[in-house]
Amino acid sequence: MSVLLSRSALAANIETFRRLCRPARIIAVVKSNAYGHGSEPVVRLLNDLLEPGDSLAVHSVEEARELVPYLRWPLLIMGGTSARHDSLLAVWNATGRTVHTVASTAQDVGRLTEAEIPFHIKVDTGMGRLGAHGEGLEEIFALLQKSPRYFQGIMTHFANVEDVLNQDYALLQLQRFEAAARRARTIRSDILVHAAASAPALILPASRFDAVRTGIGMYGLWPSQETRLSLHSMGVQADLQPVLSWQTQIIHLNRVARGEFIGYGCTYRTLTDSLIAVLPVGYNEGYARALSNRSHVLIRGRRAPVRGRVCMNMIMVDVTHIEDVRSGDIAVLIGSSVEEKVTAEELAELAGTINYEVVTRIHHTQSRRIVD
Ligand SMILES: *Cc1c(COP(=O)(O)O)cnc(C)c1O
Repeated sequence: MSVLLSRSALAANIETFRRLCRPARIIAVVKSNAYGHGSEPVVRLLNDLLEPGDSLAVHSVEEARELVPYLRWPLLIMGGTSARHDSLLAVWNATGRTVHTVASTAQDVGRLTEAEIPFHIKVDTGMGRLGAHGEGLEEIFALLQKSPRYFQGIMTHFANVEDVLNQDYALLQLQRFEAAARRARTIRSDILVHAAASAPALILPASRFDAVRTGIGMYGLWPSQETRLSLHSMGVQADLQPVLSWQTQIIHLNRVARGEFIGYGCTYRTLTDSLIAVLPVGYNEGYARALSNRSHVLIRGRRAPVRGRVCMNMIMVDVTHIEDVRSGDIAVLIGSSVEEKVTAEELAELAGTINYEVVTRIHHTQSRRIVD
């Protein structure tokens, strides 16, 4: 019933980004409970793995609040904060935690400067989400000329790097961002310029600037197959090692006669006399209902197919073909067992989603444990 985290895999992935992106610094993205890995254990590991100049990033002030007690490195709240959080951020910064937020409007800049809270400017270069562009950006620059004191960085985010092999759209975004970054540097030469998430950091060297914001890649997962292929065709040797494996234990074994049904909706009917194992994870725990009758788990090194629908808190798997199965045996949901392996990508493909969502959905009630 737990998520196992490999310290050595996390260290190796950070080293890979360091090697490829040097001299850019690492901004380790730990939003969404560290992509389902567990933000507390991940941040504790990062406390030792990061170096001066590196930092962390989350999406929201709520996420920041949980990390602040054991935060060793600066933290950026990428989704920005509102006026009602100003006093909290001011207190954190006054008491030795470095917590920066993001400004997308001149109004944000005015308010944060007044409240003495350090911020990064977010530029929308084509994502159509957070950030300033056009006149809004002009207004921000005009304000910053007058009061640059709490201005710490400038950032953007790419919309279309992981889904394509052709990077024309990213190059357009890059061009827009470079213009903004140049202007920002004339206002303050020591700001941190950052744009790249994992995929651009890996395959678009010009996007690396002063720091790269690595999320998925740091967890040892590829942003996409296209990213992996692109890097390979650039002749770059880079390996990512999945940090997470997810396992549970058989809670019940059930002998079911040939021709009987399994689960809600009677969507599976046994073809032979069968042995069915019940596992205590369902869609509440983050095992997608879309995996009903599709995915496999690993028991004693063998694949056991999920039979019937994924329930809220349980799944049933077929272990008829596996010898010596007992209640209490480990069932690997993501990870390897002897020579077999189930990856987040395999589950993503079967569930019609991406590896990001598969790991992020793993429920916080699943315990997290560091294994090496
Ligand atoms: C989530 C996020 C990242 C990290 O993206 P990955 O593809 O997981 O590396 C970087 N920047 C921003 C703004 C994000 O929201």
